[in-house]
Amino acid sequence: MTWTDEQLNAIRDSYWRSSVAVCPTCPRDAVVTIEAGNAVVRKTLDAGCRICNERWRISPDTYPLVGTFRDWSSEEQRELMIRHNKQALLCPVDDTVLKVYTLQVGGSPVVGAKAQVVECGRCGRSCSEPG
Ligand SMILES: [Zn+2]
Ligand SMILES: [Zn+2]
Repeated sequence: MTWTDEQLNAIRDSYWRSSVAVCPTCPRDAVVTIEAGNAVVRKTLDAGCRICNERWRISPDTYPLVGTFRDWSSEEQRELMIRHNKQALLCPVDDTVLKVYTLQVGGSPVVGAKAQVVECGRCGRSCSEPG
């Protein structure tokens, strides 16, 4: 059995919203293994099911969803930077679970300077603050 476009969309949605997805064609809920590509903006997903042996590279979102992506407002960015230490964050645009990490700032006059980055792998928006 192969996965249809609709099923691939469902896997992509599920992955971005909850970090896991279930195989659409296996009878029991087989969890699909997913690796996100390393593109900085709008990652592809490599998804595979060990039970039925399907493997797919799922492209980043296409139109019409992409048409709804927009930059985070400064209000939203401020809100994210305040809340990121306290709770899991969702992208204000597409409900993706956001990735929070510390980045070594290269080329900064301050040696060892770091920034806290909040990033959405789906729509590719991010914001950061020194920390
Ligand atoms: Zn399967
Ligand atoms: Zn997003």
